[in-house]
Order: sequence, then C-alpha cells, then structure tokens
Amino acid sequence: MLSAAPDFLSDTHVHSTFSDGRDTIEENVAQARRRGLHRICLVDHVRTTTTWVGDFVAATQALAATDRGSHEVPLEILRGVETKVLDQKGGLDLPADLGGLDRILVADHQFPMADGPHHPKEVEADRAAGRYRDAELADVLIESVGNSLPAVAGRGILAHMFSVLPKVGMAETDLSPAGLDWLADECLAFDVALEVNERWACPSPSTLAHFMARGVRIVCATDSHRAETIGVYEKVRSIVDEATVLAEGAERQDV
Ligand SMILES: [Zn+2]
Ligand SMILES: [Zn+2]
Repeated sequence: MLSAAPDFLSDTHVHSTFSDGRDTIEENVAQARRRGLHRICLVDHVRTTTTWVGDFVAATQALAATDRGSHEVPLEILRGVETKVLDQKGGLDLPADLGGLDRILVADHQFPMADGPHHPKEVEADRAAGRYRDAELADVLIESVGNSLPAVAGRGILAHMFSVLPKVGMAETDLSPAGLDWLADECLAFDVALEVNERWACPSPSTLAHFMARGVRIVCATDSHRAETIGVYEKVRSIVDEATVLAEGAERQDV
C-alpha cells in the first residue's frame, strides 16, 4: 500500500536557540501559528554530552500548555532531538536520558563506518585515492542507518537522509534499489518515518518512491534555523509529487 500523502501543514524539524537556531521556541511556535500549521516539532541538535534535554522538555511542555490556553485552534507542539549516526552498527550520538521526547531525528551529518564517523571531506579524499568503491560506501551508509532504528523505534524520523552523499562526491543514484527497499522495510518494522527536507531538498524523488511504495510514513520538514522559513514548502512539494508518480508506477508493475 502506498504511503499516505504527507501533511503540508506540519513541520517536524524546526531548530531554536537551544542549539543552532536563531529564534526562540516561543518565536517558532508563534510563526507556526501565523502560518496556520497544525503540528510543529521543536528539535535541537544533541550529542552524548548534551545536558539541556531536561530543560528543553520542560520549556517546550510549558510553552505547549500556555499556547493551548490562549488559542482555540489546536496546534500540536511536539519536541524532539536531532542526532547523527556514528557507525555501521547504528550507534547514535545521543545523551542517556531521552525522557519526554516525542521524536528522535536520525541524520547523516558524518559518514558512518565500521570504526566510527568519518568527516565527508576525508571520505571524499579516500574515494579519490581509490580506497573505497562507491557501491560499498552506499551499502555501509544504508546499513548504518538501518541498524540505528531499533534505538528510536516508535519515535524515529530519518532526517535529510542521504544529504551526506553529495558532500563525499556521490549521489543518491549510487544507492542500490535493494538496499533502499531493505531500509524502507526496517522503517516499517520499527515504526520510523522518513522526512522530506526543504533545506537540503532530499531525499530524491526516486529514493522517496522506494519508501512510498512500501507504505513508510512520510513527513514534511523545513529544517528551519530561523522562524520565517517554518512551514514553507517548495522543493518538498515537487519531490513528493514526482515520487508519488514513480511509486504509483512501481505499484502498477507489481500487480
Ligand atoms: Zn541535520
Ligand atoms: Zn536539523
């Protein structure tokens, strides 16, 4: 069954001053209201050493309570963190206490390998030196991400997935269809969603079609670092439109 169309009045990836966003959680929620959204997920970057998660949960819960009391139109305010995949076993750069978080965004900020995360520039240089084959790298990336899903089951979202590929000189066309189908099945098994990201314009329509054809939950996200871009989708709309046509075509071939 094809995925349901994503909700364009939802933004599941908005940063604040808790990490590298310009605006406060209050300003971000006010903008979501102005934009007429009915769901926003406030998200900031964490590492294993991050100590503010408890404060973030308390602040976003207090904000949601105040917001509910002052508006008749419902706006669902969720809270989450964004982390990176560290290695091929699927280790995540997360602090120990994740209590109170609705979502955990899993991103490819570095290139995960057997011995840990590698900087994209380093991987690009190693590729140029002939140290890896692209197909192997693509499989390692998919496997690393897939192996991280059990830790975020029920609240995970794959964030700007495969944005690391152009940084190492590769493209999503290097990903094997079988690998993408495996990752989509892992998303279904662990109830993890896939975001279509406005800032990075990824994943590509053909990657997204693999996930849609298998019925993975798709969410829209701007990855905003300033309030004015919250809930504004242009690239996401065209990626989703194109992927929907591709996924429907794949479904017809299966019949
Ligand atoms: Zn990110
Ligand atoms: Zn982000």
